[in-house]
Amino acid sequence: MIVQKYGGTSLGTAARIRRVSRRIARTVKEGHKVVAVVSAMGHTTDRLIALAESVNPEPPARELDMLVANGETITAPLVAMCLEGMGVPAVSLSGLQAGVRTSAHHSKARIRDIRPDRIFEALEQGKVAVVAGFQGVTEDLEVTTLGRGGSDTTAVALAAALKAESCEIYTDVDGIFTADPRVVKSARKLTHIQYDEMLELAAVGARVMHPRAVEIGELYSVPIHVRSSFHDGVGTMIVAQVPMEERQRVRGIAAEANVAKITVVGVPDRPGVAAAIFEPLAAAGISVDVIVQNIGRSGHTDLTFSVAESDLKSAEKLVKSAAKTVRAKRVLSAGGIAKLSIVGTGMLGAPGVASRMFRALADAGVNIEMISTSEIRITCLVARDQVDKGVRVLHKAFELDQDLA
Ligand code: ADP
Ligand code: ASP
Ligand code: MG
Repeated sequence: MIVQKYGGTSLGTAARIRRVSRRIARTVKEGHKVVAVVSAMGHTTDRLIALAESVNPEPPARELDMLVANGETITAPLVAMCLEGMGVPAVSLSGLQAGVRTSAHHSKARIRDIRPDRIFEALEQGKVAVVAGFQGVTEDLEVTTLGRGGSDTTAVALAAALKAESCEIYTDVDGIFTADPRVVKSARKLTHIQYDEMLELAAVGARVMHPRAVEIGELYSVPIHVRSSFHDGVGTMIVAQVPMEERQRVRGIAAEANVAKITVVGVPDRPGVAAAIFEPLAAAGISVDVIVQNIGRSGHTDLTFSVAESDLKSAEKLVKSAAKTVRAKRVLSAGGIAKLSIVGTGMLGAPGVASRMFRALADAGVNIEMISTSEIRITCLVARDQVDKGVRVLHKAFELDQDLA
């Protein structure tokens, strides 16, 4: 049994739906049982969100999910009827019908469990199960979505729940590259990448995989093959360990443009203040990213952190009210920022990686506003209009266009 996921660009037109269906048909002919997870066609999700905002600038989260889930609800029957037309028995299933149960966090729901009875039933009847990605339901049958790019997560979670042989993610690039191939022309395709490296890359903006999908893949040891939907060439395997000779200090560069920062000025320097500011954000499901707090001076300090720009309005409201409670002086905020990250397990215990990154950015005139690190990642916040240049200079500085194996 194979789970195949087809992304939006790969399904953008009727011709592309036919091409995807032919590929599914071929996999069936090779003797596999196929579960196909499909995304919304082309830019459908963007269009639905824009439509929602044109009737209400702050659409209620529940209604927004009721709306945007429809993108995938449209693709699944189209693929199923296309397969039927080719003589391949198929049945489309919504998230609900496929048994995808999630938490109640609208637009960022997490899969709690999968009850795949209907999928097994379809497979037993010799049918392809075409599942609408991205969507699920709560215990109360409220419709939820998994966050932008979430069809990847539907696919990997299904592969885990069904104990599928493998999970193939078909997309509009040839695999996972050392940087976004649309930004860096000399980016190289990686034959393998480790779950932990891919997770870091995905979490800091490499759109090609949804971070939760990588996390679930690692947890349930699902080998993930990211490959092109346009040709048969092999792509990139996401695995637990990459072959020894492929280790490189820095594996990839990622950027994320949707970033804003909030500064709380003059925060009293005493226990409980950071908790008081961040708890309301957590309760609202807003994730806070790079956090910088200065050393306290004369009993006060400043606290700066980043959030997704799409969360800025609601975050600002919550932080202003918390700032009042803890008697901070002021709250400042700014959008127009981007995150620039280098990732690689090879940087563990390799001195000089950070300084090389900062030097390369300095020489290119890119100013660093904030820095954060994990064991295998260094992230700099920079002005948004500088970020593509930053990606390119870092790609060069770390010689990622050359095979260092
Ligand atoms: P899909 O619709 O198939 O889910 P996405 O648009 O979500 O496709 O993801 C694929 C895109 O991810 C590519 O078109 C590419 O521009 C972008 N991308 C960003 N970083 C990388 C990377 N390191 N390797 C490959 N693609 C990347
Ligand atoms: N259609 C959804 C989105 O655009 C989910 C996906 O494509 O994975 O974010
Ligand atoms: Mg995607």
